[in-house]
Formats: sequence, structure tokens, C-alpha cells
Amino acid sequence: MTIGPAKASLEVAGGYTTHRKAFGRVINRFEGVSFQVAEASMLLDAARSMVYTTARAVDEGEETGATRRYISETKKFVTESCQTVVHNAMQVMGGIGYTSVYPIERHYRDLRLASIWTGTNEVMSMIIAHEWYTDYATRHRRGPSYRDWEADALDADAIDEKIYE
Ligand SMILES: Cc1cc2nc3c(=O)[nH]c(=O)nc-3n(C[C@H](O)[C@H](O)[C@H](O)COP(=O)(O)OP(=O)(O)OC[C@H]3O[C@@H](n4cnc5c(N)ncnc54)[C@H](O)[C@@H]3O)c2cc1C
Repeated sequence: MTIGPAKASLEVAGGYTTHRKAFGRVINRFEGVSFQVAEASMLLDAARSMVYTTARAVDEGEETGATRRYISETKKFVTESCQTVVHNAMQVMGGIGYTSVYPIERHYRDLRLASIWTGTNEVMSMIIAHEWYTDYATRHRRGPSYRDWEADALDADAIDEKIYE
């Protein structure tokens, strides 16, 4: 639902910014424009990679806390990334991106739903945090075989400085 319209929006914006001129230059020569396209491209690639990685983990294993965390992280990251992609696509097209002359405004509206339905992204954060702390507690219950990274600090023995209450 999200990667398709985001990719389509970036394609439309790519075409427009390759032809539109302002201040005597094609606007994709302005870094203010091309860097927004770069960010969108990066987020799209990362989102697609995350979907495949998580799908593989689900296909290959039993449901665990880690797969539940991956799924929620993927839902949150992909939906928010795709919203940023469409936002950038509209932004680099200027005013015409907001009109119905190009389909960006429709993708923008459609994608707004993505961080709300099938569980809001705040609920995804709740699941991610729950699974992360559960995993953390499990790892630290294992005891001395687990590396104590905190001991790497120069002042790790300054226990009087570690006031938790
Ligand atoms: C167009 C559309 C189609 C839909 N289709 C379906 C469908 O086919 N099948 C289906 O089952 N559902 C469907 N839904 C429902 C959708 O999944 C829910 O709207 C969504 O999960 C959010 O639940 P809610 O609306 O009850 O919001 P609420 O739970 O009332 O949330 C309101 C706000 O409170 C926040 N919030 C709630 N609890 C917490 C918490 N514990 N911690 C932090 N923040 C919290 C939320 O993040 C949100 O910002 C659809 C919704 C829409 C808009």
C-alpha cells in the first residue's frame, strides 16, 4: 500500500524536476531539490529492504519477540518513510505538485492513513519498546557470558556517580 504510491510519486517528481526550469536552470541542478530526491530514494530503498528482511524472518522462523519487533519496526519505518517520500515529491514540484494536475496530492492523502490503520504507529512503538526491553532483560539474565559494555567506559568504576533515584 505504501511503497507503490511512494515510488510512483518519486518517479513523477523525478520527471518534473528534470524538465522544469527556474532561475534559468533545470531545477534538479539545485541541491535543495536533488537532495530531497536523494533522501526519498534512500528511504524507499531502505523501506523495501526492511520489508524483505522481515518477511524472510517471518517465513523462516517461529513467531518470537524478535519477529514481533521486526514487524512493528517495519510497519512504522516503512509507513513514515513513504510519507516522507511523497512529502518530498510534492515539495520539489512546487505549487503544481499540490494540485490535481499530477497524482501526488492523491498519494499524499492516501498515505496519510498508513500510519493510523492496522494499528497506529504509536502502538507499533509500544510493541517495539516492549519487545526490546523483554529481550534486554533476557540477555542480561544470562549473566557473565554476556559482555558488560558499561565496563568499557573509563570511569566505569565511579559507582557513586550512578544515581538512579
Ligand atoms: C479507512 C480505514 C479503514 C480501516 N479498515 C479496517 C479494517 O479493514 N479492519 C480493521 O480491523 N480495522 C480497520 N480500520 C481501523 C483501524 O485499524 C483503526 O482506526 C486503528 O487501529 C486505530 O484505532 P482507533 O481508530 O480505535 O484509534 P484509538 O485507539 O482511539 O487511538 C487514538 C490515538 O490514541 C493513540 N493511542 C491509543 N492507545 C495508545 C497507547 N497505548 N499508547 C500510545 N498511544 C495510544 C493512538 O496512537 C492514536 O493516536 C480502518 C480505519 C480506517 C480509518
